[in-house]
Amino acid sequence: YPCDKIRNFSIIAHVDHGKSTLADRLLELTGTIRKGHGQPQYLDKLQVERERGITVKAQTATMFHKHNFLGSDTYFLLNLIDTPGHVDFSYEVSRSLAACQGALLVVDAAQGVQAQTVANFYLAFESNLAIIPVINKIDQPTADPDRVKAQLKSMFDLDPSDALLTSAKTGQGLEKVLPAVIERIPPPPGKSNSPLRMLLLDSYYDEYKGVICHVAVVDGAVRKGDKISSAATGRSYEISDVGIMHPELIPTGVLLTGQVGYVVSGMRSTKEARVGDTLYHCRSTVEPLPGFKPAKHMVFSGLYPADGSDFEALNHAIERLTCNDASVSVTKETSSALGMGFRCGFLGLLHMDVFHQRLEQEHEAHVISTVPTVPYIFEYSDGSKLIVQNPATLPSNPKHRLTACLEPTVVATIIIPSEYVGSVITLCSERRGEQLEYSFIDSQRAFMKYRLPLREIVVDFYNELKSITSGYASFDYEDAGYQTSDLVKLDVLLNGQSVDAMATIVHKSKAQRVGRELVEKLKKFIDRQMFEITIQAAIGSKVIARETLSAMRKNVLAKCYGGDVTRKRKLLEKQKEGKRRMKRVGSVDIPQEAFHELLKSS
Ligand code: GDP
Ligand code: MG
Repeated sequence: YPCDKIRNFSIIAHVDHGKSTLADRLLELTGTIRKGHGQPQYLDKLQVERERGITVKAQTATMFHKHNFLGSDTYFLLNLIDTPGHVDFSYEVSRSLAACQGALLVVDAAQGVQAQTVANFYLAFESNLAIIPVINKIDQPTADPDRVKAQLKSMFDLDPSDALLTSAKTGQGLEKVLPAVIERIPPPPGKSNSPLRMLLLDSYYDEYKGVICHVAVVDGAVRKGDKISSAATGRSYEISDVGIMHPELIPTGVLLTGQVGYVVSGMRSTKEARVGDTLYHCRSTVEPLPGFKPAKHMVFSGLYPADGSDFEALNHAIERLTCNDASVSVTKETSSALGMGFRCGFLGLLHMDVFHQRLEQEHEAHVISTVPTVPYIFEYSDGSKLIVQNPATLPSNPKHRLTACLEPTVVATIIIPSEYVGSVITLCSERRGEQLEYSFIDSQRAFMKYRLPLREIVVDFYNELKSITSGYASFDYEDAGYQTSDLVKLDVLLNGQSVDAMATIVHKSKAQRVGRELVEKLKKFIDRQMFEITIQAAIGSKVIARETLSAMRKNVLAKCYGGDVTRKRKLLEKQKEGKRRMKRVGSVDIPQEAFHELLKSS
């Protein structure tokens, strides 16, 4: 396939607008997967993706399609790259777009343009991609394609007559999609007679084949047996297998200019496969491709084995999983309450949740995670700077005077039906937000931009926003740098002993309320024990909230369950099960849920 018969495109959309379903239909239409057989959302391979109905990893599928081109039937090679829609994974989206020349911008015909439609449109627009608007779900009774066309015009200056109308459900309009891809998206621009340059898009570890690299051949060609070098690491490899994702791996022995596919080259670990790296033929001199901005970790949390002895198992599980998710950062840390564990950095809260779930589901690791935190910066009078990814590491009595506290902020895009404007403004100002923009998309929908501290978003902002708008709000955010802020460290003490894994950093104006909520929550989650327990929240040596859990009266258990043997046995079983997930701090047993629940307080 020469370049002019290749099209690389992606499907981008707000979550649930039908990207994955549309991808399924296109795969069926081209005979890549059989109709009615494969599972729905074929490209969502991970269990989390299936359970949550979201796409986490971008996937590629190569399709072949016959098209009448300049008067004769010609086969085209089409590479479809499915992308995740959620904000946390926009990093994955921008990587995928780097291998594309065009994108289908899918918009739900009833819901219209949403926050991630805006975010994804700009990602594609900034990458100079040809954009084909696809108004999907036109089969719905509430579909209003004309309104969506007007929105596309007013928000993105897209010509309404360019929009395709489809239903990925009934199949209506789908026959127009691939011809539009072929006619409106330019072929890849690479030079076939230049030395090889290929962009490393992603990598994963396969038990049988080893490290599989997902690549886009920008210039030249790559063949089985070729010797290649990495611009990032300087290491050399021999290509032992090369082919396309159809979407299963199909060896082809060669990838030509403009193609997207995979190579296997005897890399031992995915750590050698740097996403965004340029691979080229040994001994040729080439200018490396621009690559990608490194992933920015927005949320950090400690991960500890639920059972202290499982440290090695957790270590192994995390290593295996980060092999396939290079966007997580991992460093070892020790907590006096929880023992040895890891500090992990994530792209966002959903990314963190997904990582936890995958650890449990795919690697059977049981973990306790600490309250998520954002990376704060503390500056001292001697000019030193401390980046705090774990509140416990912030010294209570620093050697030098604190001169500034800085917290990361984001610019949030919120789209809502107009009647909810009032409550959203209230929510954003409670969360210390600053309004940057407020306008209307059309007569029914408002568009707002706020600068907000990242911390205020990390803690349950999206759920709250959804609940005050009856689920109608859509939301997206992007990094907006640091701002100075009035921050304090809040310690949690049990019987006078501070629990390092529960320390948090909060804005001074909220310390009182957060402290109160923390101790009340803990009181609910810690079981009464044989002695009295005091639960306190403190800033430095000043206690700002306090609760007392009275001692359990002896023989309560014997009295209640004395007569009923099976219930007693069940209870003991349950207790044993619970023990696995208990942590002892001093003499106080803390159930795992306490750590999880603390996460939800603001
Ligand atoms: P994604 O999050 O953008 O990948 O969206 P999905 O493809 O997972 O689709 C979200 C939901 O919308 C699923 O329940 C689909 O069955 C449904 N859906 C997708 N396309 C259509 C359509 O054209 N019409 C209708 N009525 N439902 C659709
Ligand atoms: Mg999807």
